[in-house]
Amino acid sequence: MKFRSSSDWREALAFETPMLASEIVPGDPCRCVGCAATTAPFERTDLWAVKHRHPNDPAGFVRFYCVAHRPVPASAAVAPVGRRETARLERAHVVAQALAGRNQ
Ligand SMILES: [Zn+2]
Repeated sequence: MKFRSSSDWREALAFETPMLASEIVPGDPCRCVGCAATTAPFERTDLWAVKHRHPNDPAGFVRFYCVAHRPVPASAAVAPVGRRETARLERAHVVAQALAGRNQ
C-alpha cells in the first residue's frame, strides 16, 4: 500500500478503528499518546494508529497508541448488543483484520 501524501493515508482510515501503524504509515519509532512522555518510543510494528473525529476538521486526526493504551473500536464499545448487532460487529471486525493484514 502506497500513499502519495500524508493526507492520503489518513483518508483511507476508518474512524475510531485501530490499525497497525507499520501497515499504514511506516516510519521511525513513535510515542504512544497514552504513555508517559518519558517512555521510550515504540516501533511502529507495536503501535496502533487510530483516526479520531475532530469537531473542526472533517478529515479527523490520527494518534498512535501502544497495545496497552489502544482504544476499543467505538462500534464494539456499544453495549449491550443483540445477536444481530453482534454479527454485524463480527463482520466489521473481520474487515478491519483484513485491512490490517497480519495482525499482532
Ligand atoms: Zn501507551
